[in-house]
Amino acid sequence: MARTYAVETFGCQMNVHDSERLGGLLQQAGYARAGSAEDADLVVVNTCSVREKAAEKLYARLDRFRHHPREERPLVAVTGCVAQQEGARIVDRAPHVDVVIGTQALAMLPQAVDEAERTGRPQVDTSPFDSVSFPLGVAIRADPVKAYVTVIEGCNDFCSFCVVPYTRGHERMRPVAEILGEISAAAAAGYREVQLLGQIVNHYQAPDATDCDFAGLLERVHEIDGIDRIRFASPHPRHVTKRMIGALRDLPKVCRHLHLPVQSGSTRVLARMRRRHTRERYLSLVEEIRTQVSGVNLSTDMIVGFPGETERDFEQTLSLTEAIRYHGMFSFKYSERPNTLARARMPDDVPEPEKARRLTALQALQQGIQQELNDSMIGRTVTVLADAPSRRRDGEYAGRTSGNTVVNFPGDGTCIGRLLDVRIERAGPNSLWGTLATAVAPPPGGGDGVG
Ligand code: SF4
Repeated sequence: MARTYAVETFGCQMNVHDSERLGGLLQQAGYARAGSAEDADLVVVNTCSVREKAAEKLYARLDRFRHHPREERPLVAVTGCVAQQEGARIVDRAPHVDVVIGTQALAMLPQAVDEAERTGRPQVDTSPFDSVSFPLGVAIRADPVKAYVTVIEGCNDFCSFCVVPYTRGHERMRPVAEILGEISAAAAAGYREVQLLGQIVNHYQAPDATDCDFAGLLERVHEIDGIDRIRFASPHPRHVTKRMIGALRDLPKVCRHLHLPVQSGSTRVLARMRRRHTRERYLSLVEEIRTQVSGVNLSTDMIVGFPGETERDFEQTLSLTEAIRYHGMFSFKYSERPNTLARARMPDDVPEPEKARRLTALQALQQGIQQELNDSMIGRTVTVLADAPSRRRDGEYAGRTSGNTVVNFPGDGTCIGRLLDVRIERAGPNSLWGTLATAVAPPPGGGDGVG
């Protein structure tokens, strides 16, 4: 009988996709997916270090295997950003861990597991690995509709709060021929939406085609038959070019949604964050994008309580939020991350209760904006790509508009993967509800179809 595995995933879309690749590698090596971690012969914990106290949380999670006798517990592997950051310290603190594989050595997982089993000794591999090629067709995709496709690994920007350049390594571009091959294969397998992934996805420059920048990549992906929608995460404001804005405007499969991380509304704080964009430059960029790309929805990431953030700085974050009226926001209280410049040089001097107060105020403002924006959709008809049963109610399904708003509607399993028109009847701050208008065939085209 085949040995079984389970992968537990924490963190961003990049990690979700890494887990899809890990699952594929293990299946190639003869493993079958287990129903749950409790039933598995091998448990892989794919970690994220963007979470606060990520290492401590990992050790707490690993503790559930600690007291099992060797023959009664599964093999345990730790992968991802915390594995890269902690390396051999993981097996020192948790000796029941069999394998530690960093972010750049993922493809070594099956061999490392074999070696750990054969020798009875833990295997640790956090070596840098420049190649970002991955054998086509290996990923076992978890989503039936959306295909994640990595285009860039790593980041060279070293924003002062961010651990990513230390855990994911320096920026490496994937060949465009390989990216297009993977997307064509996903389209042939029935995937309707592609999500291009990179830490600064819009910094893309093909290593195998000098004329292919990020806009050129969007143009090439747009030509692939069978793909109806193209999304990408995450662009950096300072790499938004006129060509990129033109591609958003002119290519109908490219969704009318831009996640544009700003992190703070204060130029002073942005400089301390080493973001290399100012409040003023960001606002004028947003104006240009909105002028060129009609109906585009914007979302962002925001940090409150960064070292040295004054009340006046925070008020600038609130005023920028009010001015832009984002459709979505991921907002966090600042907390230190290992190895970062902010941790080394900037005292974490905003008291915790003050950080909490600022976060509550920002989130209340943002929720109100989202409610107003979503209320304005009531009575309109939008086109959604249905992708999953609703998490809340039986008989309800969910999809997203081109602008990335979640829409729930009564339906059945046949709607998954189809572009459907939904008339909006009700709105909350985070999603919309409606009923099917007319089912539409899946043509190319990413507009919201707002009527
Ligand atoms: S651009 Fe800044 S925030 Fe984004 S991954 Fe790179 S260092 Fe981190």
